[in-house]
Amino acid sequence: MTRQRLVLATRNHKKLAELRRILEPVVDVDVLGLDDLPPFDEAPETGATFAENALSKARDAATATGLPAIADDSGLAVEALNGMPGVLSARWSGRHGDDVANLELLLGQLLDIPDERRGAAFVCAAAFVLPGGAEHVLEAKMSGTIVREASGAGGFGYDPIFVPDGHSVTTAELAPEAKDAISHRGKAFRALVPVIPAALGH
Ligand code: IMP
Repeated sequence: MTRQRLVLATRNHKKLAELRRILEPVVDVDVLGLDDLPPFDEAPETGATFAENALSKARDAATATGLPAIADDSGLAVEALNGMPGVLSARWSGRHGDDVANLELLLGQLLDIPDERRGAAFVCAAAFVLPGGAEHVLEAKMSGTIVREASGAGGFGYDPIFVPDGHSVTTAELAPEAKDAISHRGKAFRALVPVIPAALGH
């Protein structure tokens, strides 16, 4: 019998690998990315919240492919910036996906902010949508502090300037599995896992 297929609404291969690692051992499904399926028109991310963006990506993928779809939307919420960059994290410097420019702009904005007010959290909304049917969305976060200088070569985005609570190194200095175990994305998708088999009728 062929396994049930599930589409992850992303073209990011690192994200696909990360979520395959989390989902495939515990749910009897094959996780496909958008690059594994025929192309369709993808709407820009215009939602005001992570949950709205994750739901709309999953809805679009479910409608276009006819498969159950999962999607995530994530970002960094900095206390001294009233929760920004938030949903604008990927394009904070004005150029989508320019991780170095985004991180340098943020460090400059926080230059005069004392250590005790450098709290921040990575947030992830994970959505699961059946074609024409049920929808689930939930959020998780990883709290920590923005340091003053980038360090570490792992991860992506703001990882080199984020030290999670209870740690003394940035998430760019953690092994991938160590980051998964505490990350906003790891927690959100592990929380979503129990919903999936029931929704698929397993
Ligand atoms: P998206 O969820 O793929 O749209 O990513 C949003 C943006 O948030 C990324 O481009 C990064 O700038 C930032 N971000 C989200 N998760 C992480 C993370 O785990 N580490 C570092 N940056 C992240």
